[in-house]
Amino acid sequence: MVSEVKVKWLGHAFFAVTSSQGRVILMDPWIEGNPSCPIKAQDIDKADVIMVSHDHFDHAGDAVRLAQNTGAMVVAQPETANRFKTALGLADNQVVNAGFGMNIGGTVEVKGINITMTQAFHSSETGSPCGYIVKIENGKTFYHAGDTGLFGTMKELGEIYPIDVALLPIGGCFTMDPVQAAKAVELLNPKVVIPMHFKTFPFLVQEPGGFVNLIQNKKPGVKTIVLTPGQEYILE
Ligand SMILES: [Zn+2]
Repeated sequence: MVSEVKVKWLGHAFFAVTSSQGRVILMDPWIEGNPSCPIKAQDIDKADVIMVSHDHFDHAGDAVRLAQNTGAMVVAQPETANRFKTALGLADNQVVNAGFGMNIGGTVEVKGINITMTQAFHSSETGSPCGYIVKIENGKTFYHAGDTGLFGTMKELGEIYPIDVALLPIGGCFTMDPVQAAKAVELLNPKVVIPMHFKTFPFLVQEPGGFVNLIQNKKPGVKTIVLTPGQEYILE
């Protein structure tokens, strides 16, 4: 089965990517209590992989429920995976690496999707925060930064894993703001950037316009795609 490659923003840091072979990859699923999520948990009837960047409710909130509903494999750090198993009853065989999870620097393959865990600078209830580089079957590569401040080795990440689409937080307060995120785009050098983690709460940046302007000035070759929750971007 060959599918259009699609990136759907479901509010905050929650994205659903459909791969070239029709795999559904959920990143940081948060539905319950997410004021910007336009769907209900029942609306997701298929998922193959669920990635969790860190153990905060606004990123991990619905990971286990969706995994149990769909049979998807959960990718997370060992300590977070362990909480999912002990506190929420996630089955061992639904955690990557035979129930162990993975950690920063590692790469796993799940159903033809290559997932590399990267560092992030933030906090987490269990384990430590991370980001993900995801290479799908046709080679297209996504970077979900998770929640993080700016860090210099984004440049090396972009060199090792040429990035087609970067999903970057711009909301400030808990993560990069538009100025830092624009610098991140300079370092990562993706083809496309999609801003996230803004507007969800009153104390986050409300509008992405400042970020869009910075990219137009500093990296005019990078396409900035501003989605509204529920909207999807189809890769060329
Ligand atoms: Zn967050």
